[in-house]
Amino acid sequence: MSDDVKRTGGCLCGAVRYETVGPTNFGVIHCHCHSCRKNNGGPMVTLAGFNADQVTFSGQERKIYTSSPGVGRAFCGNCGTPLTWEGAAGEDTPIVEMHISTFDKPDDLVPTAHAFEPERISWFDVADNLPRYEGFASDSALLRHGPVTEGLPSD
Ligand SMILES: [Zn+2]
Ligand SMILES: [Zn+2]
Repeated sequence: MSDDVKRTGGCLCGAVRYETVGPTNFGVIHCHCHSCRKNNGGPMVTLAGFNADQVTFSGQERKIYTSSPGVGRAFCGNCGTPLTWEGAAGEDTPIVEMHISTFDKPDDLVPTAHAFEPERISWFDVADNLPRYEGFASDSALLRHGPVTEGLPSD
């Protein structure tokens, strides 16, 4: 993947659009935290992290809900699609974590880890062999690789 790769995305109704330039500087991570789940409506959320200056929004201005001090979660004011987690989060430059579901072509944004594994819904896991971390993938304990073997429903 070349360094200047451009990707596009947007909300369900198309009012808010964006373009990202360059690789994900903060990776692509599955997050199981309660806050991401509430925000997104799914059993987990997959986020692709960019420096804020790699992301350009267009169309209708995104709305931002401040979910905790310094952290915004953007969404479309028309259709409600969750778009980002954004803030500084202790980094030198602002980060915009894009919801993978909003990219037009997310296939080449391949996840590398699971974050906040202890908050995972007990009946839900996925079959990849990626590392599962206690908190953020960058600075917390590695709990295991691969899905759990118990607690998942079966027929
Ligand atoms: Zn929309
Ligand atoms: Zn989360």
